[in-house]
Amino acid sequence: MLNLSNVNTFYGNIHALKDVNIEISQGEIITLIGSNGAGKTTILMSISGIVPPRSGEIFFMGKSINSISPDKIVALGISQVPEGRRIFPYLTVIENLDMGAFLRKDKDRIKKDMEYIFDLFPIISKRRNQLGGTLSGGEQQMLAISRALMARPLILLLDEPSLGLAPLIVKQIFDIIKKINIENKTTIFLVEQNANLALKTAHRGYVIENGCITISDTADNLLRNEAVKKAYIGL
Ligand code: ATP
Repeated sequence: MLNLSNVNTFYGNIHALKDVNIEISQGEIITLIGSNGAGKTTILMSISGIVPPRSGEIFFMGKSINSISPDKIVALGISQVPEGRRIFPYLTVIENLDMGAFLRKDKDRIKKDMEYIFDLFPIISKRRNQLGGTLSGGEQQMLAISRALMARPLILLLDEPSLGLAPLIVKQIFDIIKKINIENKTTIFLVEQNANLALKTAHRGYVIENGCITISDTADNLLRNEAVKKAYIGL
């Protein structure tokens, strides 16, 4: 479904991604783990067209998306939930969700999808008329995921959904990520520093170090991998 082939991405002279190869099949939950500054967010930015690769190719459903603009990439079915949520604080929850559906033409289905999201996240339903900025951190993360789902993505890119949240809320969010994958058949690409939780949620995973993919394996094997345990799980 989504293939990165020898992707090299730069910020000016900084070579942030070095010959990155990643393959994601439809229906999978794939995680990308790595330390601060390893290049995780840059991979998502390259896929979303915000920081396009300088060389290499990104294919989505068999077509190159290298030179496609970020809004068209969303329209193709790729939605990103950015690190730090970035919801609209001065818009209500419903208005935030409407923004997620901004590019859609099938207006009659939008209401139905909003009802699905309210079932998925009852707390978001309860807060529907509140301003986004008045929500707790966990609720804002749920709203950010909901807003991305309103674009009806085929693949959801999640950047550090656990960041700064209490363990109980993180568990709720990860349970819902699994539910979205199973019920909706949405493919998930999950970038996380919480490697233990991410690997317990994903089918397969990649490890990135200094802009290079160094390991790729099933999530079960990565959980047993001594180098991964030592560097990312703290065992
Ligand atoms: P974190 O977990 O801290 O978000 P990350 O793995 O997502 O880290 P990136 O944010 O992708 O890492 O950063 C990869 C490299 O690119 C780092 O060396 C970082 O300093 C650099 N970098 C990221 N964004 C920019 C930018 N806007 N301008 C210049 N360099 C950048």
